[in-house]
Amino acid sequence: MPGRHPLAAPTASFDRRRLLTHSGAALGLSGLSSLFANGKAAFAQSPATPKTTGEGKITITDVRAIVTQPSRSRLCVVKIETNVPGLYGIGCATFTQRIRLVEAAVNQYLRPFLIGQDATRIEDIWQASFVSSYWRNDGVLNNALGGVDMALWDILGKRAGLPLYQLLGRKARNAVDTYVHASGESIDEVTTKVADFMKQGFRHVRIQTLVPGYSTYGTAAESAVETRRDQVWEPAPYVRLVPKLFEHVRKAVGDEVELLHDVHERTPPILAMQLVKSLEPYRPFFIEDPFSPEDVGYFETLRKQTTVPLAMGELFNNVNEWLPLVSGRLIDFIRCHVSQVGGITPARKIAALCEFFAVRTAWHGPGDTSPVGQAAHVHLDLSCSNFGIQEARFFTEAEQEVFPGCPELRDG
Ligand code: MG
Repeated sequence: MPGRHPLAAPTASFDRRRLLTHSGAALGLSGLSSLFANGKAAFAQSPATPKTTGEGKITITDVRAIVTQPSRSRLCVVKIETNVPGLYGIGCATFTQRIRLVEAAVNQYLRPFLIGQDATRIEDIWQASFVSSYWRNDGVLNNALGGVDMALWDILGKRAGLPLYQLLGRKARNAVDTYVHASGESIDEVTTKVADFMKQGFRHVRIQTLVPGYSTYGTAAESAVETRRDQVWEPAPYVRLVPKLFEHVRKAVGDEVELLHDVHERTPPILAMQLVKSLEPYRPFFIEDPFSPEDVGYFETLRKQTTVPLAMGELFNNVNEWLPLVSGRLIDFIRCHVSQVGGITPARKIAALCEFFAVRTAWHGPGDTSPVGQAAHVHLDLSCSNFGIQEARFFTEAEQEVFPGCPELRDG
């Protein structure tokens, strides 16, 4: 199979400065969001929050998708404006690989459907929007709806004068533990990065290394090799190499760090089972997406053969796709790209479902989640009792410029 990274190179049409000039001012993110308040007082009420706690109906007056590419990934944010001066919400709708389709789904279809509706009827709007296209339940429409849903929760939080986690049940913890990516072109490079992250206070690190001579997905973003289309992907060398990576890193850094790995659904199921079993001596925190969504029937077999914790689901669209894996106790961590499942409304239901089966949350949070989406994750993480871990990254200077008040990583 040819190896190709799905994130296309930046293009002039997504120029960061152009966004700032034409859209950024209107986006007006600074300090005005219950999801996304200014960095240092991330969850405090902004002094700029409009006084809107009266009895008047809050009506949606405009909905639009704003596309930007401050760094590597194209990002999409939905902004919903209301009849209350200064009261608006923002949400992440990033499906970076098909971002113009999401933009059209928001601007051409959800916008006329939602203008005039009561902005506080979040559940009703979600259900009506979900079935409004008749054909439904895919990445494009779910992401469009996810951006709308987050923006409505943002509006509700601002109307109440409360950060979102307060509306979701208040804090279940004081902080959110995160994992970051140690990716490199060699095992030594990955090991050095793990040690560096540990010095910074991280307790969880995902490790991925390039397979020499082959295409690899999920290694260093800056790797020129990874993005070459002429490289061949072969699963067997990858499956042979990953245990060596785990063995080397574990020996070098000891037991006081949790190690994670993402298979990215890239091997035949039988090789994935061999791989997961071979990693058991190194006590991974979880192994992610060992099977493709089409091969989830193999989980039952894998579960009987190993105690390695399993994470699954970022490619799923609908709660019903996780249901058999969760209720069958076949996975340990739920992976969701929150906008991909339709936003905070379905995500909190998924988390609640998982709580009763001892499955913990691990929302998808790499480069193709906007800072707005990452802020939504943190509110869910703070309020869910079955929080597991949050995938996180450092936002670039350009992203911080476009999205003032990005969530910050401290002490892991
Ligand atoms: Mg993944």
